[in-house]
Parts: sequence; structure tokens; C-alpha cells
Amino acid sequence: MNKELQITPLAEWGYNFNSPLFMSGPCSAETEEQVHETARRLSPYNIDILRAGIWKPRTRPNSFEGVGSVGLKWLKDAGEENNLPTACEVANVKHVYEALRAGIDIIWIGARTTVNPFAVQEICDALQGVDIPVLVKNPINPDLELWIGAFERLNQSGITKLAAIHRGFSTHEKTKYRNIPRWNIPIELKRRYPNLSIICDPSHICGNRDLLREVAQTALDIGFEGIHLESHINPDKALSDAKQQVVPEAFGEIKDSLQVRDNIDQHQETEDHLDTMRSQIDGLDKYLLEILSQRMDIVREIGYYKLENNLAIVQPSRWNEIVETRRDMCERKNLSPKFVAELFHSIHKESIFHQTDVMKAEEAKAIEAEKVKK
Ligand code: PEP
Ligand code: MN
Repeated sequence: MNKELQITPLAEWGYNFNSPLFMSGPCSAETEEQVHETARRLSPYNIDILRAGIWKPRTRPNSFEGVGSVGLKWLKDAGEENNLPTACEVANVKHVYEALRAGIDIIWIGARTTVNPFAVQEICDALQGVDIPVLVKNPINPDLELWIGAFERLNQSGITKLAAIHRGFSTHEKTKYRNIPRWNIPIELKRRYPNLSIICDPSHICGNRDLLREVAQTALDIGFEGIHLESHINPDKALSDAKQQVVPEAFGEIKDSLQVRDNIDQHQETEDHLDTMRSQIDGLDKYLLEILSQRMDIVREIGYYKLENNLAIVQPSRWNEIVETRRDMCERKNLSPKFVAELFHSIHKESIFHQTDVMKAEEAKAIEAEKVKK
């Protein structure tokens, strides 16, 4: 079921956005001064959209849940002062009415709302007949259809100024990200709806400051149309998402350090299309290597366990199970059994190498300790 989406491209939203587009501002509006100062200090970096969370969806109650409606005016005024369109999250009908009444220019649907079709539908009903751009964050679970469903519902309410925000996906896996990027999902969204712009949100993907640049660069390499980064005048003291926010000047540094891909040249459409697809491959390969490296980390952990319990590295029954189950896994995928078998042979070889390495290193340590004793 692949219904067409009606999309008004970013360039026709009436804001003269840069390409790529940059969106920044605090995770939460906290005080009037904070919102104004953030906007003032961001403005030299030529951002396109000023954001601030007004109502905050918090995992646990009794933490800061946003300043509420009073912050809408702070945001709108700060936007006007710096000639910037403003954006905030809406999660229910009340939020929609208040944001519209305050003249907020762009709204977004947050990841915890996109998961809920009832909530999305209510927002869409409230927006019926309103010509406001809506950004839709991916649902927290990796469900592309749910993400697409939100765009379809908005379309049914007559909204065509649409763009996606990729903010990563919740996971129980131990990874270096707060929300794992799963680049293949936004890439598939783009493949199905090439006119739908995607803005990457490294702040919520990373959950910390160290990885922001790297993730933003990957997004641009893949061909995303924008970057969303949270900024705060005193990040360590922020009332929400303190670890991932940066001061406006650090935002500027990240922005300036990014390698921006060329604009699409009308005469070179075929070549650019090829370039875009190749960039997608580059992004996926990077992701593939990350997954392999994560797999080897676990393999090494198993290596220590085997060492402690005096188990042999190669367990033939486990290896047989891997070969058989992986062959079955590839049945419904576009991969030949021969290729999958070779791939896993190679992965297995590398895994044995890692576990042997663990054992050798531990043995060497034990010998060294013995020598010291003597
Ligand atoms: C936010 O942008 O501050 C936010 C709450 O994001 P998400 O919905 O992606 O968690
Ligand atoms: Mn946030």
C-alpha cells in the first residue's frame, strides 16, 4: 500500500531556507531571557528555524514538564527579533490551538506522539484547513509504516508543507547512541517519497555532545536536507536533555565544520541521482561496519566468559546453528544463500580471531603476573 504523498517542497514554504537547512534552539524554553539570548547568539550562524520545547514529554513524572503556554510568546518574540520562523512541538489539540493562537510558524509532532495514531489523528483534525508546515519526527520504535501513516493523516487534513525529522530509535541494545540511527529506515522513506525532505536530529540520536558532528556529517553525506541541533546558553544547567545540548557558538562550530554536498544542478539530474544513491550506499556501509564492530564487541565479551569457564573457542553445534538459521533468515530477502554462507564464514573467522586475541592477551597478563611474583 504505497499511496502518493502530496508534498510542498521546503523551497516553497515561503521562508527562503538555506540548503541544507539548520534548525536550532533550546530543548526547552526555560525563561524569557534564555530563549532571547539563545536566539540572539544563534543568529550570526544563519539558522533557518528557531525551535524551543514548550510542553515536554518526560519519561517519568515530577520532572520539568515545560513552561507551558507562557513560553510561546517568548519564542515568537525571539523569532521576530531575529527574523526567524519559530517551531515547537504539539502533542494534543490544546497544544495545537495555543501554538496557532501565538502565531508559531511551524509545528512538529514528537517521537512519542507519532507512535500513536489516535493522537496523530486528533492533531490532524484540529489542523483541518490550516496551512501550517508540520515536521514529523520518527516514532520511537523502528516502524516506517507508522511514520508514513502520520504523513498520510496530515495530508488528509489538507497539510502538504511536510518534512520528516530523523531522531533515531529507542533500543534495548547497548550502543553509543541514545537513540540508534538505523539509517536504513529514513533512507527507505526517501526512496519511497523522494520529494519528502528529511532533517536529521543528531541531538536526540546521540544523547551527548561528542558524536553530534559525526552524525550530522553522515546525514549530509546520505543527502538529508537539514540538520536539527539543540542549543542552550548553559547546557550543563539545562532543565531537559542537558548532556546533548551545546552553546550557540559550539553549534556554529559544528555547522561550519560540516562538508555540504553540492546542490542539485538541473542539467545533471541523472548524475546527481546516481550520486544520491551512492551516498546512501556510503551511509549504509558505514552503518554496516558499525554493526559488525558492535558484534565483535560482544564476541570479545563471550571470549572472556569462555576463558573464565575454561570453554573452547569453537563450539561446532553453535556454529552449525548459525549457518542454518542465517540461511533461513535470508530466504525472504534478496540475498543468495551462497553469499550469506560466505559472509558468515568470514564473520566467524574474524570472531575466532577476536576470541583468540582475548585469550592470548589474558595469558600474557597471567605470565607477566607470575614473573613479578618470582
Ligand atoms: C525534542 O525535540 O525536544 C523532543 C522531545 O524530541 P523527540 O520527540 O525526538 O524525543
Ligand atoms: Mn530535547
